[in-house]
Amino acid sequence: MAKIRYATPIVEMQGDEMTRILWDWIKEILIEPHVELKCDFYDLGLRHRDETEDNVTLQAAQAIAKYGVGVKCATITPNAQRVEEYGLKKMWLSPNGTIRAYLDGTVFREPILCDGIASYVPSWTKPIVIARHAYGDVYRNKEIRVDGDAQAYLEVCYGDGNKRREKIADISGAGIVQGIHNTDRSIESFARSCFGYALDVRRDVWFATKDTISKTYDGRFKEIFSDIYAREYKDKFEAAGIRYEYSLIDDSVARIIRSEGGMIWALKNYDGDVMSDMIATAFGSLAMMTSVLVSPTGAYEFEAAHGTVTRHYYRYRDGESTSTNPVATVFAWTGALRKRGELDGVPALADFAVRLETAVKNTISQGFLTGDLKALYRKEGVTPTVLDSRAFLEKIAQAL
Ligand code: NAP
Ligand code: MG
Repeated sequence: MAKIRYATPIVEMQGDEMTRILWDWIKEILIEPHVELKCDFYDLGLRHRDETEDNVTLQAAQAIAKYGVGVKCATITPNAQRVEEYGLKKMWLSPNGTIRAYLDGTVFREPILCDGIASYVPSWTKPIVIARHAYGDVYRNKEIRVDGDAQAYLEVCYGDGNKRREKIADISGAGIVQGIHNTDRSIESFARSCFGYALDVRRDVWFATKDTISKTYDGRFKEIFSDIYAREYKDKFEAAGIRYEYSLIDDSVARIIRSEGGMIWALKNYDGDVMSDMIATAFGSLAMMTSVLVSPTGAYEFEAAHGTVTRHYYRYRDGESTSTNPVATVFAWTGALRKRGELDGVPALADFAVRLETAVKNTISQGFLTGDLKALYRKEGVTPTVLDSRAFLEKIAQAL
C-alpha cells in the first residue's frame, strides 16, 4: 500500500524521559508504516535545550508560527533537582511557557472517551473541553502581608501623570492584601481563540465568571467576550449551528454537572486551573487528556496533558518493561496529522488520523489496555488485559 504524503512540514518537538521513548515507538509502530512523515524537527530534550542555551525552544515556537501545525512530546521543566541531575548551565524556563508566550495562545484540554471507561459523572457522555485563559490574575499577583493596623490602597498611575487611587480597606491588627491585573488585549485574544476553535470543532462555548461580585474586573471579561462575539462571530456561529452563552460561574458549575458534555468551557486563569483537574479526574485519567494550544492567528500545537512520567522512566532505564499509557501522545499526533490534512487539503491524512483514533478506542473498549486504565474499565463479561506499552501499541496497530 502506498504511504500517504503531504507537502507542508509538521513541526515535531521531541521531549524527555518515558514520553521520549513512547514517542519513537508511536512513530515506528503506528504512523510511519502508513504516512511518509515530513517534519521540521526540534529536539526539546533537556540536554539539547541546555546545549543550545534553550534557543531550540524559541526556534520551535517560530517554526509553529511559520508552518501552522506542531506536535510536542512532554518535556522536563527544570527545578533545582534537575539542574543537578543533568548538570545544567541554568534552570531553564518551562518550554510550554516559552512557546505559549511566543504564540500568545489559549490551551484547550479535552478528555478522550472510550466505551468501557466510565466517567464518574454518568450523564457526561461527550467530552468537556476546558479553555483556560493563560495570562494574569492571581498568577501575576503582588501580595503584601500586613503586620499591624494599616490602610491599603489600590493605585493606578498613567503615563501623563494622572492617578487614580481607591481605598481597599482599613486593616486592623494584621492581615493580607493582594493586587491582580489583566489586559484588554490578552482577554480579546483569549475570546478569539475560544470562538475560532469552537467553529473549528463545532462545539458550543460556555463562558463563566463572577461578574455579580467583581463588576469591573470580571465584568470586563464578560463585556469583551460579548462584544467580540456580536461583532465577529455571531453570524458564523449561527451558520455552524453552535451557540455562545455566558453565565455566572456558580450557575455554570451546576449546569456542567447536569449536562451531557460536549461544550467548550471557557474559564479565567484560576477557574481553568482548578476545573481542568476536576474534569480530567472525572473522565478517568490524566493519561487520557489531550491538549492543544491555539494562537489567535490560527497556529496549532498538539500535546498530551501529562508530563514525562518520570517514575516509569526510571524503571524502564533499569531494564523493566512498563505499562505507560501512550494514548494522549498518540492523540497529539493524530490531532496534528488531521489539522495538517485539513489545512493542506489532503483528506487521506485526516482520514488516517480518524482511523488511528478509532483503532485506539476499539482496542481499549475490547479490554486491551495499560495499567492505569485497569481499575476504570467496566464492561460486562470482559476481563481487561494489561499490556506493556509496546505490546499495547502493537495491539492498536493490528486493529488499524
Ligand atoms: P507526570 O509525568 O504527568 O506523572 C505523574 C504520575 O501520573 C505518574 O507518575 C503516573 O503515576 C501518572 N501518569 C501520568 N501520565 C501517565 C501515563 N501516560 N501513563 C501512566 N501513568 C501516567 O507528572 P510529574 O511526575 O509531576 O512530572 C514529571 C515531569 O514532567 C516533570 O519534570 C515535569 O516538569 C514534567 N511535566 C511536563 C509537562 C509537559 O511537558 N506538558 C506537563 C507536566 C509535567 P504512577 O507513577 O502512579 O503510575
Ligand atoms: Mg492545576
